[in-house]
This record gives sequence, C-alpha cells and structure tokens, in this order.
Amino acid sequence: MAEVKYIFVTGGVTSSLGKGILTASLAKLLQARGYSVTIQKLDPYINVDPGTLNPYEHGECFVTMDGAETDLDLGHYERFLNVHTSQANNVTTGRIYQSVIEKERRGDYLGKTVQVIPHITDEIKRRIKLVAAVNKFDIVLTEIGGTVGDIESLPYIESVRQLKWEMGSQNCIVIHLTLVPYLSATGESKTKPTQHSVKDLLEEGIQPDILVLRTQRSLSKDVKRKVALFCNVEEGAVVETIDVSTIYEVPLNMLSEELDKTVLRKLNLPCGEEPALTEWKEFLSKLKNPKHSIRVALVGKYVELPDAYKSISESFIHAGSMNECQVHVAYIHSEDITEKNVSEKLMGMNGILIAPGFGSRGIEGKVSAARYARENNIPFLGICLGMQCAVIEFARNVLKLEGAHSTEIDHKTKYPVIDLMEEQKSIIDKGGTMRLGGYKCIISKNSKTFEAYRKTEIIERHRHRYEFNDKYFDEFRQNGMIPVGINPDSNLVEIMEIPEHKWFVGVQFHPEYSSTVENPSPLFVQFIKACIEK
Ligand code: GLN
Repeated sequence: MAEVKYIFVTGGVTSSLGKGILTASLAKLLQARGYSVTIQKLDPYINVDPGTLNPYEHGECFVTMDGAETDLDLGHYERFLNVHTSQANNVTTGRIYQSVIEKERRGDYLGKTVQVIPHITDEIKRRIKLVAAVNKFDIVLTEIGGTVGDIESLPYIESVRQLKWEMGSQNCIVIHLTLVPYLSATGESKTKPTQHSVKDLLEEGIQPDILVLRTQRSLSKDVKRKVALFCNVEEGAVVETIDVSTIYEVPLNMLSEELDKTVLRKLNLPCGEEPALTEWKEFLSKLKNPKHSIRVALVGKYVELPDAYKSISESFIHAGSMNECQVHVAYIHSEDITEKNVSEKLMGMNGILIAPGFGSRGIEGKVSAARYARENNIPFLGICLGMQCAVIEFARNVLKLEGAHSTEIDHKTKYPVIDLMEEQKSIIDKGGTMRLGGYKCIISKNSKTFEAYRKTEIIERHRHRYEFNDKYFDEFRQNGMIPVGINPDSNLVEIMEIPEHKWFVGVQFHPEYSSTVENPSPLFVQFIKACIEK
C-alpha cells in the first residue's frame, strides 16, 4: 500500500459521547481485518501536556512507555489495540504554539507575520503526519478533542479541511459522532441537534463522510434516512451506537453496524477477512458470566471522579475477566479514613489497593489503610504513592521509627524513609520533569511479583519524584519488608513485599498503564486471585 490513510473523528452536540471509545473500537476492527493502525488525540487546551493538570479537571494522566504524560483516551487506545502509543500520539494546542513560538524566536519565519493560518495549521498538519513517520502504519485515526463549534477546536478543523483537500477523499475521511436524544414525552428520537451540528461542521468547511449517532434506543430506518438526507451523507454511512453495559462491547456493535466496511470502502481499501475477534469475545463472555465476586477498596483522594483512576479500574476489569471474577471496586476517600474508623471503613473487603497520588491531602488515611491491610492479612496492592505509604507505615509501626515520613510531605522528618531522587534535586519546572515512562526492574525469584510475571526482568512505566531511601534497606529487610525488585541501572527500589503476609505488594511503578484486554496486568491478575482466596 502506498499512502497512509487518515480517519478523523469529530464530535458534535455535546461532550462525553464516547469519541475515544468509538475511535478505539473502529481501530480495533480495522486491526482485526489486518491493517496496522494507530490512534492519535488532538487536545484543544493550552497546557503543553496534561501532566500538570489536576485529575479533577480531565481525569487520569496516562503515561506512555516513552515517558509522555498524555490524555486518558490514550489508555483506551492501548487497552483496545494492545499496541503502545507514544509522545507523538497526543498533541495539545499548547504544544503546537510552543513549537511555533520557538521557531519564531529562532527566526525561522524569515520576517513573516506569524498567523493561525498558515503557521499554526501547518504545525498541526505536521504533527498529524508525524505519528505515521515514527512507525509505518496503514491507517492513522485521529480523534479531535472538544465539540465542533468550540472556538478552541477551529484551527484543528481547518487543518483537517486542508488535509482532506490535499489528500483527496479516498485518503482522508471524517467521521462525525453526534447525539440523537430520545424525548419520552412524545416518544420520539430527535435529529435536529445532529442536523445543527453538521451545519456547524459545514460552516467550518467540512462535509462529514460518515455519521455515528449516539442513542439510547435503536433508531428506525426512517430516522437514519432523514439524517442522511438532511446532512447530505450517503444512507449506508449513517450508523448508530447504542448505550451498552461495557465499553468493550462497542467494537462488536460497530461490527454489526458495518462501520469498518463503510470506512474501508470510502478509503478504497479491501475489506480483508471478517474479523474473528476470538480473544475479545472470550474476554467479554468471561466478564459477563463470572464465577466469583469480590469487593476491593480503592483508597485514593480523587474518588469523587472515578475517571481519575481509569487505568486502575480498567485493569480490574481485564484481570477480573481472566479470573472469571466480578470485581466490585469500592472507592474510598483517604481523607475519610482515620486510625479509629479504619476497620469500619474497610470491613468486609477482600482486598485493598492504595492509589497513586501527590501531596499531603489524605495521606494519613492511606497510611492507616496500609496498616489495616498488613495487620489483618488482607491482600494489598500499593501503587507508587501507595507503596510509599506502606513503607511509611511499616517504618512507624514495625521499625518503631516515630514520625517516619516521605520528604514530599514532611521535609523535616527525622526518618525520611521516602526521599526525593538525587536527579530531581536540581529541578524546578513542574511539567514533564518526573521520572517518566518505562524502566527496567529485576525481580527476585522468591517473590509474589515473580509468581505473577513469571520472569525476572520486566519493564513497567513510572511517574514519580520520590523513592525508597536505601539507607533503610537493611532495617526493612531484617524486619520483614523486603525489596524484591530493583532497577539494575540506578539501584532504585521498585517493589516491596512482606513474605509473611498472604499477599502484600507495593510497587513504585504503575502496572495499570500496561494492562490491556488481551494482556491483563500480571500483578492485577495475581492480586485478584489472592482476593478470591481470601
Ligand atoms: N508523589 C509521589 C512521588 O512523586 C508518588 C507519585 C505517584 O503516585 N505517581 O514520588
């Protein structure tokens, strides 16, 4: 195949219609038909990346293997496609402007007035194409964040218009996802919001090739025909996406709507074989017919917004299905936990996970939860700050180092069992400066983590500034909390375990970022197994 083909996905009427899931589902089908695909997200906000964003703003920050802090939709892309994304897969307006302004300061524009068109749009187009230059792909799918009609997304839509003109409709198509609300008072599905949204898109110069209608109830042929007629779209290119109980059903729904076939026909590509999706279907069937059921506490400080822990909750779904187990995640606010009420708050849980995080809010609740898990032999998984809290708790209550802490929270503590990494000490900027992305870890054979991964060398992703202070290495080891995973280059402690406990594992890395439908995180799989036994 000569040229890379491009599919753009825009959204209309309202946000949260599931553009990310739709894009990932379509990509999954194209992948299953034998095409190499990748997905990119263009985010219209001014932050250079979402790394500095409070999770309450946009949910979790997803970290790629190459160390980019990205939008949580990239997590969905990886979980669906089982393929890594990279820095090039997420572009924000901030990053676009940063490059253009740097070029201007260098004098690259040779005295020209720097403008949104052509300079910003050229940079957007360059970034869109960059993702295919990094790796060879047959098809690049690009999701445009925001809703058509927003001021912020205008330069992106204009760039797509130009690309479509440059490449031709057989190489570049636009799918527009909109909402068809159902009015129960009159018993009708209303198409007007869709018509208006397509008009907005037309005003910005784009005629969509395919419309995907998000709906609560199945739409009649007449409704689809009406949309096709008034939006000037071929009748067969109007498909519906109906509300489902799990996002992992969307690819199968899109398959029965033949969205993949329509896309390939428009791009003038052969359909290939009918996607079997055997593993996918097996995963879904296990997910829907569990033999076990457990309750796991997720202790964190952003629990009001479950999107803040998206990769963790999805990891529970993947690993739950593999164990044929329904995992009920109880989101528990760490600020609500005290030493006194901890047993009441965590009573009846089959397992306890302490979430990653930053800063002092809710930290003592996390420390108490770690103690409760340790003393009551409840399966425990601590991720990043969660591991650090387990270390602090062990130092205070087993090693009797009163006031032991992380210097992130108490920089004057007498016992800094968690301390700032050496390389971090001279860093002032907050954006993109943590220890980020994939690093090696060597695992001791005699450990729960080895039982999970079944190998001694792994690479997992990181996002932190603080680490276990190895001055305390021997003291911890002699008293029963053992460093069983070490980075071979820096000696940084990656994993802490308590062998005497049923299943107590703290990891400095983030196993949740690597979990996919077809490759659930081994650590989550074993954690759930331990919870079932409990
Ligand atoms: N705040 C801790 C650190 O920077 C933990 C980070 C995290 O949980 N991702 O080391």
